[in-house]
Amino acid sequence: MRVYENANKKTRELKAVYCNKCKKEIKITRGILMEDVYHGEKEWGFFSDKDGEIHGFDLCEECYDEFISQFQIPVQTKKKKEFLA
Ligand SMILES: [Zn+2]
Repeated sequence: MRVYENANKKTRELKAVYCNKCKKEIKITRGILMEDVYHGEKEWGFFSDKDGEIHGFDLCEECYDEFISQFQIPVQTKKKKEFLA
């Protein structure tokens, strides 16, 4: 879950991020997350019961690992080749 300051203005600043599963608060320094999180967002379409709804959530790495460990087919993993300096 993401909490923004000035939520209704164009220049909104990320104020807090919480893991939706365990409620852990992810540390933020000057608008930058100090711990990586999984952010999922889905705009549901016509062939669903949630047509027009946009769902979003965040998971800390621990909850993400627990979530994907339940998959029958493992996640597809690629190595990023280049990192920006
Ligand atoms: Zn968590």
